[in-house]
Amino acid sequence: MLSSSWIELDASAVAKNIRYLKKRIAPAQFVSVIKGNAYGHGIEQFVPLAERAGVSCFAVYDAREAHTALQVKSEHSRLIIMGMLDEDQLEWIIGKGVEFYVFTPQRLAAAVEVAKKLKRKALVHLELETGMHRTGIEEVEFPEVVDLIRKNRRHLCLKGICTHYAGAESVANFLRIQNQYQAFLRLKKELKKAGIVAEAYHSACSAAALIYPHTIMDMVRFGIAQYGFWPSMETKMNNLLSPQVKFTRDPLKTVLSWKTHVMSVKAVAKGNFINYGNSFLSTKPMKLATIPVGYHQGYAKNLSHSGLVLLRGKRAPVVGSINMNMFMVDVSHIHTVVPGDEVVLIGKQGELSISVASFAELTKTMNYELLARLPQQIPRVAN
Ligand SMILES: *Cc1c(COP(=O)(O)O)cnc(C)c1O
Repeated sequence: MLSSSWIELDASAVAKNIRYLKKRIAPAQFVSVIKGNAYGHGIEQFVPLAERAGVSCFAVYDAREAHTALQVKSEHSRLIIMGMLDEDQLEWIIGKGVEFYVFTPQRLAAAVEVAKKLKRKALVHLELETGMHRTGIEEVEFPEVVDLIRKNRRHLCLKGICTHYAGAESVANFLRIQNQYQAFLRLKKELKKAGIVAEAYHSACSAAALIYPHTIMDMVRFGIAQYGFWPSMETKMNNLLSPQVKFTRDPLKTVLSWKTHVMSVKAVAKGNFINYGNSFLSTKPMKLATIPVGYHQGYAKNLSHSGLVLLRGKRAPVVGSINMNMFMVDVSHIHTVVPGDEVVLIGKQGELSISVASFAELTKTMNYELLARLPQQIPRVAN
């Protein structure tokens, strides 16, 4: 292998998560959100696992991700671009039958023109502004949008009318989310009165579906939960303690682990500075192992002096700073460490595990950010 570390995906965890989540939202449709390189899991590797688990609709952020997904998804699976696309990409997007969000009248008009030219319907999801104030069609733009749709029914297929909540994973946003939900219902009715109805209405992400079941509607866009993570501790506790849900074991299983090998092992006498600078002084004779991963490979710099890895079934703490391509761990308490030993950066080894959550806690980032930043170059293998 050319890479100094690799990421393993647990196919049975994918199947279990998707089965559980589908049951929670039945009969609504499951949309698998695979933006951010499938939250770091790798679009190419994750899509086939999700399809085997019964998923037939995927959502990406932009045209580049759509391009990757098209290479690996089955012909029958749907694909939705929820975010960025340039108007000059509309031709191949509509030509390939990829669905996409429309959040301005301009994009709708551009889609109609391309659809006319290709003699192929544009498959659109109208994203409505309900209170997130990021993207979404404003109510004042409705007359223009309604007019465009009425005049171009032959060129458009309204696959969805949708919105997105501004932080359903946090109780602090409770009122804002409820207001968005009410706004969505009102705007849906208003469009219906104007004769505009969609095949499906959707609003929920993982947190919304798992905390506010009324937001489930016809489809749920599941991101983080399908990879085995609760969107927040609040979401997890809300589900753990809910009398309706009732589970004794966590139904969400972590899919990803990140592993590498020991690069070299070194004995250091008492009274020496370790690695760059003077931030770590050995106060006893120590044995140290060098790990061939650094911030270039996505191991955060602020894990200096605080990260943990698993080696020979034991925890080994990071000593000194995280370098660009390497860092060192204290293995004084582990007798038999040799170069080539497996090192777990995230995941299980023996009885122990390093969860993304604990890792994210240490780096003070959210699960989402840590996962999405795992470099694309790290090879992903499915087990
Ligand atoms: C990322 C995203 C989702 C999925 O969110 P999770 O919290 O990961 O479930 C759903 N909808 C939109 C529009 C998104 O951008």
